[in-house]
Amino acid sequence: ALTAGIVGLPNVGKSTLFNAITKAGAEAANYPFCTIDPNVGIVEVPDHRLHKLTELVKPKKTVPTAFEFTDIAGIVKGASKGEGLGNKFLSHIRQVDAICHVVRCFADDDITHVSGKVNPIDDIETINLELILADLESIERRIERVGKMARQKDKESMYEFEVLSKLKEAFEADKPARTVEFTEEQEKLVKGLHLLTSKPVLYVANVGEDDIADPSENEYVQQVREFAANEEAEVIVVCAKIEEEIAELDDDEKAMFLDELGIEESGLDQLIRAAYNLLGLATYFTAGVQEVRAWTFKQGMKAPQCAGIIHTDFEKGFIRAETVSYDDLLAGGSMSAAREAGRVRLEGKEYLVKDGDVIHFRFNV
Ligand code: GDP
Repeated sequence: ALTAGIVGLPNVGKSTLFNAITKAGAEAANYPFCTIDPNVGIVEVPDHRLHKLTELVKPKKTVPTAFEFTDIAGIVKGASKGEGLGNKFLSHIRQVDAICHVVRCFADDDITHVSGKVNPIDDIETINLELILADLESIERRIERVGKMARQKDKESMYEFEVLSKLKEAFEADKPARTVEFTEEQEKLVKGLHLLTSKPVLYVANVGEDDIADPSENEYVQQVREFAANEEAEVIVVCAKIEEEIAELDDDEKAMFLDELGIEESGLDQLIRAAYNLLGLATYFTAGVQEVRAWTFKQGMKAPQCAGIIHTDFEKGFIRAETVSYDDLLAGGSMSAAREAGRVRLEGKEYLVKDGDVIHFRFNV
């Protein structure tokens, strides 16, 4: 399963945020595809469409979908035997599919900052630089080898050399691979290099309790936003401490608490949805009287693959996907109304499933 790694300097609030994630977290038993590991937190994906579908269909049971966050700090702390912390840190980042970079934006004199004062851009650059240097090191040997062959006019090597040189140039200017523009063809080559700085990133600005209602007042948040805009990354504002408290509440209490704070959605819920998108994940639904359920698929998956997420037999015996978009179903008010309006399509093997599709799979057993 794809996972988003929580990364950041010491004392920025990673553990506090990860605690909130595990407290709010889903029962692993309901999600057999998820990893059971103390450093992995399973979260349910908040989705108002699931509630609407439940109202519409009135099933016996409603099941949200889920995915995983990985606490990199936790792994690194627990595994510092022999190898240096640096290498462990990098090798664990290598294993995650997207990065949630937590940055300290709260002032608190009682909590030591590793570099002496709160400076979110310095913090971001410290970690980014570490990753860039690791990537530079990992392509340098390859450049040497490919360069030799390129000089002998080997076509493929010449092509690869061009790509590698472009990366090297970026790294030497302290720029991550994800900010370099490549053609689609080159992009495939880059993907094969498994670079740390190719991974998609979002920034989590951890603010103090007083700033959560109006984070634009916080100058550190402004700085992070400006920085992130340059690499077209998203910024999510949270107060990790408050999220830890919210995570202990039930739904009604949570709604009241958020209302008191003057916010519509908790920072953690925003983070969950942003990380889900960052991982390239999307949701389709099944809606029967027994169960209304959200399922996670990877954007770009076709109907049979999506059927296989429910059960391998569904994929093997796939015939058709009876599909209606969430919006069309809601507009119609019921499945039969949507059908009468001609909104229910019979899709075949090549159909690319879209976020929000409500699907009934037909298959041979
Ligand atoms: P980590 O080293 O990044 O995992 O940081 P921790 O989660 O252990 O947090 C470091 C310290 O900062 C702890 O004492 C936390 O209680 C505190 N802290 C974390 N988030 C916040 C926050 O939003 N506001 C305030 N005031 N303190 C926080």
